[in-house]
Amino acid sequence: MTRDQQSMAKIVVLGGGPAGGATALGLKKLGYQVTVITQPRPFKAVEGISERVLEGLRNAGFQQALANLPAASPRMASWNGETNSANTERLVNRSELDRGIGLDLQAAGVTVIDGRVDRVNPNDDGYAISVKADGDVAVAQLITTDFLVEARGRSAPGAGLERLRGSETVSLLQYWQGAPCQPQSAAESFQDGWAWMAAWSDGTRYLQLTFDVASANLPDKSQLIDHCNRILRTLSSAEPFLDSAEPSGIIHARTSTPILCREAVGGNWIRVGDAAMAVDPLSGNGIFQALSSALQAPAVINTLLQQPENAPLAKQFYQQRVDHLFYRFARIGRDFYASEARWDNPFWVTRRNWPDSEPLHQETDPASLKVETLPVVSNGLITAQEVVTTNDQPLGIWHLNGLAMAPVVRALQQRAADESPQDCLQQTLGLAPSTAEGLTRWLYQNSWLASVR
Ligand code: FAD
Repeated sequence: MTRDQQSMAKIVVLGGGPAGGATALGLKKLGYQVTVITQPRPFKAVEGISERVLEGLRNAGFQQALANLPAASPRMASWNGETNSANTERLVNRSELDRGIGLDLQAAGVTVIDGRVDRVNPNDDGYAISVKADGDVAVAQLITTDFLVEARGRSAPGAGLERLRGSETVSLLQYWQGAPCQPQSAAESFQDGWAWMAAWSDGTRYLQLTFDVASANLPDKSQLIDHCNRILRTLSSAEPFLDSAEPSGIIHARTSTPILCREAVGGNWIRVGDAAMAVDPLSGNGIFQALSSALQAPAVINTLLQQPENAPLAKQFYQQRVDHLFYRFARIGRDFYASEARWDNPFWVTRRNWPDSEPLHQETDPASLKVETLPVVSNGLITAQEVVTTNDQPLGIWHLNGLAMAPVVRALQQRAADESPQDCLQQTLGLAPSTAEGLTRWLYQNSWLASVR
């Protein structure tokens, strides 16, 4: 595809959350004409993010979305009978974040359509999408596209694709209202699950209890609020959230089952964010993982459209990363559940043992280093390059601070027994002494070189 044809290729993104937004901005930078179709989420939610995630959102190009983010606030964690109040997190009002994402998209020249995606029908030229303004059948419009990005989060239809699911999990979100206060949050485990609570400066409290769907024996709707409130009153860290506050409104149920889409990319479509893989909210990393896939998607799409001969490589690149990230977060969650040892009911036992018993990190040793040809991102496209894989980095490392690592490993593997690694790197690769010294230190620290006793 030539540059002119590329700018003609129409790409539609369904869903304007962090993943759809970041993918659209990335595609725009590559010169594509992008339309995002999205509707506001139907309920109020507050979520917590770390400074690292905030940085990721900034790097993705969001500005207005982050303009009104409050400063970091205290976060208390009560787990396995121990309480820790050393941490902080940024509380994010999701409606405001998503609205800001829409403004950032418009400022970047992305067309944003406010409406509900009703039907998506594949045809010979791509897709025909029917969009409705909420509740108004009369204004249904038909949009056609060459390439489809599915970013409707957990609401994205399964589309008959193979998916791996963890234990079915539901989070019940309840709002309480109290006097305006300092923002804060807390997480606490209890016998049948765990709670996350947040207080927003206007006095709204977001109280979220997470349960196992199969074993929680939740009462029917009319009794649910009382059931949740009985649990909340047993939690030591809930007190500041309930004090002088009253329940307001109904309970909102959010599915929080971990789900991995085994086929996240095709020839003219891709799934990003929660639509590709949705992690357990215990990890507190949902937005981070949504961004991770969204930041990789534009180069994958660019390759599928411009170099269809490299489609298998692009698909391999994307699916391997989605799988890898999903398992990483699933194992982080598993180890965190395992650190709560007080209960042995189905909620805890299933989550302590899922997805597998593989360690989170594999030990790296110099003998495990291999030079392999694998897909990487280069100049907005996926290409095959020589990278270094280790036990712990099966997807490979191409560059470190701009230095290709495959020649480094080759040089070290071929060096004479009496030659020091630093001398070898200086001689063979012509590195400056200070660069070779810094690199050698990194290689020892990361077990790419066996430490000398
Ligand atoms: P979403 O953010 O869900 O965005 C999808 C967008 O598509 C929405 O705007 C939606 O309204 C729109 N949409 C959906 N259907 C349609 C349609 N038919 N037509 C048009 N538009 C549509 N992550 C954290 O980082 N920190 C947390 O504290 C945290 N807490 C969580 C608690 C719970 C209970 C759950 C379930 C998740 C939590 N997450 C948290 C995860 C986080 O919400 C998601 O991982 C993240 O929002 C995924 O981003 P996304 O862009 O893929 O999807």
